[in-house]
Amino acid sequence: MGCTAHDVIVALRSAAAVVAEHRDELIRLDRAIGDADHGENMDRGFRAVVAKVDTAAPETPGAVLKLTATVLISTVGGASGPLYGTAFLRAAAAVSDVTELDGPTVAKALRAGMEGVIARGRAATGDKTMVDALAPAVEAAKSAAEAGEGPAKVLSVAADAAHQGAQATEPLVARKGRASYLGERSAGHIDPGARSTALILSAIAETARS
Ligand code: ADP
Ligand code: MG
Ligand code: MG
Repeated sequence: MGCTAHDVIVALRSAAAVVAEHRDELIRLDRAIGDADHGENMDRGFRAVVAKVDTAAPETPGAVLKLTATVLISTVGGASGPLYGTAFLRAAAAVSDVTELDGPTVAKALRAGMEGVIARGRAATGDKTMVDALAPAVEAAKSAAEAGEGPAKVLSVAADAAHQGAQATEPLVARKGRASYLGERSAGHIDPGARSTALILSAIAETARS
């Protein structure tokens, strides 16, 4: 069973709900090593995404992802807006105009999204950014897809790996983004963008499971 445009919209609603629920936590994480706006930025962006997909009703998964990208780019702001926007835009391009996403296509879309973030932000793994959540997610998704798993399982292993990756940013010293201005003092806190990436992936995986 593949993911249709409707499934992707349901997944985005779930992501928006989880971001709203964790808004204060993301603000707190960003207050420690940034400027305390990540929760607000993401909540504003995902609310706008939900409002937009409800009215525009895009017909393919790729069209939903592309619309999400445009809305995130124009509403989130900060460093994370263009980065998440690019991720969704590249994911949209990777799935092209297929009507249902299977396991390998989901894995491919995740990889394309991560490559977009890296192309735009030039962060490597270990730099204490969202890439530290995305990279293990992409690898886990690839293995699951190669083992013949469908989209639900591919997404759930990706989400689990993203959570581990986000958790593992805690001791790291930031080398990209605002947190890097703190140097050694950025160690001891989870990166807010890595945390939001993990939350969004698990929200998406939850809906794919049901
Ligand atoms: P800002 O830092 O402009 O206030 P946000 O607070 O919304 O933007 O987002 C901060 C997050 O963006 C960081 O926690 C980090 O995960 C991510 N980020 C910042 N710069 C980069 C980069 N160059 N590459 C990848 N991710 C980045
Ligand atoms: Mg910030
Ligand atoms: Mg900011």
